Amino acid sequence: MAWLKHTYATQLPPNLYAEQAPVPVSNPQMALFNEALARELGIAEHLKDEQKALAYLSGNEKVPGSQPIAQAYAGHQFGHFTRLGDGRAILLGEVETKRGLCDLQLKGSGQTPYSRRGDGRATFYSMLREYLISEAIYALHIPTTRSLAVVKTAGPVYREQRHEGGILTRVAASHIRVGTFEYARFLGQPGDLEALLKYTIQRHYPALKDHPNPALALLEAVRQKQKDLIVNWLRVGFIHGVMNTDNMAISGETIDYGPCAFMNAFHPRTVFSSIDTDGRYAFANQPNIAYWNLGVLANALLPLIDEEEAIASAKAEEVLDRFPEDFTGAYFEMMGNKLGIVNQVEEDRDLVNSGLKLLAKWRVDYTNFFTELRRGGDLINKLREEEAFENWYSRWEKARLRGTSLTESNALMAQTNPVAIPRNHLVEEVLQSAVAGDMQPFHSFLQELSSPYDDGLSLQTVPADFDASYQTFCGT
Ligand code: AMP
Ligand code: MG
Ligand code: MG
Repeated sequence: MAWLKHTYATQLPPNLYAEQAPVPVSNPQMALFNEALARELGIAEHLKDEQKALAYLSGNEKVPGSQPIAQAYAGHQFGHFTRLGDGRAILLGEVETKRGLCDLQLKGSGQTPYSRRGDGRATFYSMLREYLISEAIYALHIPTTRSLAVVKTAGPVYREQRHEGGILTRVAASHIRVGTFEYARFLGQPGDLEALLKYTIQRHYPALKDHPNPALALLEAVRQKQKDLIVNWLRVGFIHGVMNTDNMAISGETIDYGPCAFMNAFHPRTVFSSIDTDGRYAFANQPNIAYWNLGVLANALLPLIDEEEAIASAKAEEVLDRFPEDFTGAYFEMMGNKLGIVNQVEEDRDLVNSGLKLLAKWRVDYTNFFTELRRGGDLINKLREEEAFENWYSRWEKARLRGTSLTESNALMAQTNPVAIPRNHLVEEVLQSAVAGDMQPFHSFLQELSSPYDDGLSLQTVPADFDASYQTFCGT
């Protein structure tokens, strides 16, 4: 029975994708399978036979009736326009769910017409990493692609050394990126851009269907989604690491868990990606980059905003110009929530900024700080020995009790501040065990990360010297 849909391949011009089946692998084994997600998607029934599930999710057997494709896209990578596309991913098809269509995509499934010089593969290690972090981001209540499975293969996959291979089944609201619009506009055929806009609106923003200017309305909708997404990243200390326009989803989900990492000691310029030498994608630069990427989306959409370029630009700018203020408002509200300030006023912004300056100065752990601030732990007692912090602390106490109770304030803090995050050193530890054959530490960490706001959790440890040499990589 055919249980996958193919709206992308059937409703969009062929120029926007290539028909391509996954390349078979040897010795596949199901390393992880997300039973709960399969049930949520309503596909558990189709994957209940373990042999079949392994055959489909390794790419060794076609899902009955399916038309696998690789999607074309372009993107600005570190500011430079490039022709791209799914170089190591295959869209198996779409699943109809209660929340709309969801893409089922294999990542690491072999070469495609868009592979350029790449081998089309991924290491077992990096696919386990994406599974762990994407599921953690989901549990942190942040929009994200999900992970349904990781298949381990014999490989070999060469990344300086020889590795076992990994194939991730990624689930996404869609894989339409800012870069998909760039492709349609600058590398496509006449009509591609219009078809993509129509499809995107129908799939993600159906309420905008009858808007007098759908392209402009889409830009505005994406602006709001990205604002919310980045505010959430800053809330939990997430650094995406490679916010190229091909890695920004139109749906507003976090996508592409390559060089991402979590910040431990607070510093706005924190970077872990080995290739981000200028800090373009540093922690606190993420809103600026989202704004820049929205400008790229606007540019791609111009011909659909107005026939006359000057008018189209003016209209797009009006929409874009609202990003900085909107973002700032949402950011301070979120930071106010982290501080448990129920009734926020303008002057709380200074409390936030001066607090963060102190955290940066003393390199205080971002996550543990907010948990301990609420619980009143050792970390805070030590900081209070410093006069500058003690002054800040008494201002904070007043602000959080403004027109409310301690209970309310604490409840707000508890729901805004996670206790458990995928700490870099802990991620490494469980991944090292996993590639050595022991999945048990991975499973217990995944379990802990599945309820990150649980107040029964104790603080995570933070080794002082680990992050200094921690580096993350693209394309592994
Ligand atoms: P990323 O840096 O993960 O956003 O990837 C940028 C582009 O490189 C995308 O078009 C990927 O499909 C492609 N790519 C990354 N790794 C590989 C690989 N091993 N083989 C082929 N293409 C790849
Ligand atoms: Mg990517
Ligand atoms: Mg990637």
